[in-house]
Amino acid sequence: MRPFTYESPSSVLEATNPGHPDSAFIAGGTTIVDLMKLEVMKPPKVVDLNALPMRGIEMSPDGLRIGALEKMSDTAVHPEVAANYPVISEALLKSASAQIRNMASIGGNLLQRTRCGYFRDVNTPCNKREPGSGCPAIGGENRMHAILGTSSSCVATHASDLAVALVALEASVRLQSGASERLLTLDDFYLLPDGTPHQENQLLPGELITEIRVPRLPWATRSTYLKIRDRESYEFSLTSAAVALDVNGDQIRDARVAVGGVGTKPWNLPEVREALTGKPLTLETFVAAAKLAVAGAVPLKHNAFKIDLVQRTIIRALIKLGGLA
Ligand code: SF4
Repeated sequence: MRPFTYESPSSVLEATNPGHPDSAFIAGGTTIVDLMKLEVMKPPKVVDLNALPMRGIEMSPDGLRIGALEKMSDTAVHPEVAANYPVISEALLKSASAQIRNMASIGGNLLQRTRCGYFRDVNTPCNKREPGSGCPAIGGENRMHAILGTSSSCVATHASDLAVALVALEASVRLQSGASERLLTLDDFYLLPDGTPHQENQLLPGELITEIRVPRLPWATRSTYLKIRDRESYEFSLTSAAVALDVNGDQIRDARVAVGGVGTKPWNLPEVREALTGKPLTLETFVAAAKLAVAGAVPLKHNAFKIDLVQRTIIRALIKLGGLA
């Protein structure tokens, strides 16, 4: 690990002042410490966020607010989260290990880096780590990689389960740099790799996620997160689906659908939502809607199975919520 300086500011203003453009923020440290040990990240300065007042989980008439420093484990079992947005609780409880969930912050979870093995191995090229050096995953080992949103520069998946649930729910992140604040939908916050895979999101240097806002959606009480993986614990998804369903008798009134494990960012599916809305609550409706999820998919040598698997993941989540099982 390279030497670095350490600071622990007591206000967001101080933490994000323009004097810290090359610094790395640390909260739970569950991603950044690993990456610093591997020398994938070499920040000259580490700014500890834990003294900042970016906490609290509250439900209001507008929806849910989660402070960015809240722990994954506390958020997962919070009564308002569990009761109103089961999809968030389930996504968190299916993430990482209990020990990591006890340490990792919600903001850090949304900013975690890809698990592409080449990215974490500094002895191989990687456009995300060293822009312009190449992408060995495209012709190499790519079973875990993306089929949607890829480019000739990068095919890495986004690793966060929570982000998939939040994108489905049309959540936003509040960002702060100095005295300047802005609110972005999470869907807009994340960037496709295109020719610049090292730029994964719209955060400016020194800018922080301070809180997450989830719109009120009373029928999200009927929501779920289905995660398909090689083993049932402590594993990243092959495919996942965050689904909420509003049902009136045998008709679908509305839906929210996003998928993970297949996209270079958490993959929102408004076209699947539209294909479900106003349709009868039947398996045929689910199958027809899920087909739209893979429009434009570009499989690689080892991950073509995801085209079928992600459709079945969506269908299974819909069957569960629709009571067709
Ligand atoms: Fe790097 Fe992306 Fe290629 Fe992985 S897929 S080696 S992260 S450029």
